[in-house]
Parts: sequence; structure tokens; C-alpha cells
Amino acid sequence: KSGFIALVGRPNVGKSTLMNHLIGQKIAITSRKPQTTRNQIRTVYTDERGQAVFLDTPGIHKAQNRLGTYMVEVAQKTFSQADIVMWLVEPTTFIGRGEQEIAKKLRQLKCPVFLIVNKTDTVKKEAVAECIKAYRQIADFNEVVAVSALRSVNTDTLLDTVFRYL
Ligand code: GDP
Ligand code: MG
Repeated sequence: KSGFIALVGRPNVGKSTLMNHLIGQKIAITSRKPQTTRNQIRTVYTDERGQAVFLDTPGIHKAQNRLGTYMVEVAQKTFSQADIVMWLVEPTTFIGRGEQEIAKKLRQLKCPVFLIVNKTDTVKKEAVAECIKAYRQIADFNEVVAVSALRSVNTDTLLDTVFRYL
């Protein structure tokens, strides 16, 4: 089995952190500063089940300047290459314009879409459930997985789920 998995979502939701923990090496640059990941970073995860190529993107968000526009283009290109798209979000019920934009883009895709609620270590279980409920109202997801990328909580389950779809 092999395939491409695009990680999309707002800056700072933990895309780079998740990718680092999935592969167990520090390859993507992570930072508190938004827009650290300006280009697409590919990371290959391999085990006995096969190969999963993660594409870390700067995410889709409102283009405020030239760099922003470029980053949106990178994210679009990543979508077109993906076998699975993972939308990473923080465990809140806030749905802003950025989220609506991503939901709109995802509706145009034919590949499976996963909702990944990250940073579950920062909130109570109820908040995670509320978040999932809110996002299910704006988009359809083939899978929903709640994780803590930082503490590697449920990230094995996420990998299992990825390989079920590849
Ligand atoms: P990206 O912009 O989406 O790539 O986000 P990063 O991976 O750079 O992470 C942004 C910030 O969120 C960093 O300070 C991370 O340490 C933090 N972060 C990422 N995942 C988690 C998590 O599961 N729990 C907590 N508490 N913090 C996290
Ligand atoms: Mg990043």
C-alpha cells in the first residue's frame, strides 16, 4: 500500500508537530509563529503495511499578501496530489471564514477526507465532542480522529486509519 496524505488547516494547529511525531523524526520545522512552513514538506512513513507520504502544507487561509497567495497555491496543488486529505483543527467550536473556505474546498474533492481534532491534551473530552459536532455541520468526513500530536495520543490509531484507506 502507498499514497499521499495532505495535511491542511490553519497555521499553528499542529500540522508539522503531527507529522514529526508520526514519523518519529524532526524534519518539518515547527514553531509558534504562523507561516513557518512556507513550502510543501514531504515526509515518508514506511512500515510493514506500506508507505505513506505526508504532505505538510502552509494551509489555506485568507491571502493577505503575495506570500499568502503563494501559500494558498501550494495548498491547492497538494490537494490535487492527495489520496487522503486530513483537516487538522483545534478543539474549539469556533468556525470562522477560514474554516468555511476550507470546507468549500473539501466539498470539491473526491478523495476521503478526515477530520483530525488535535491538541486534545489542552481541553476536556466534552470540548472535543462539541468541536466534532460543529465541524460535522459544515463538512462531511469519512473519518474523525481526536489526537494530541505533542503527546502522541491516538496517533497510532490515526496511522491505522490511514492504512485502511490506502
Ligand atoms: P502548524 O503551523 O500547523 O504546522 O503548527 P505547529 O506544528 O508548528 O504547532 C504550533 C504550536 O502548537 C507549537 O507550539 C506546538 O508545540 C503546538 N502543538 C502542536 N500540537 C499540539 C498538541 O497536540 N498539544 C499541544 N498542547 N500543543 C500542540
Ligand atoms: Mg507547520
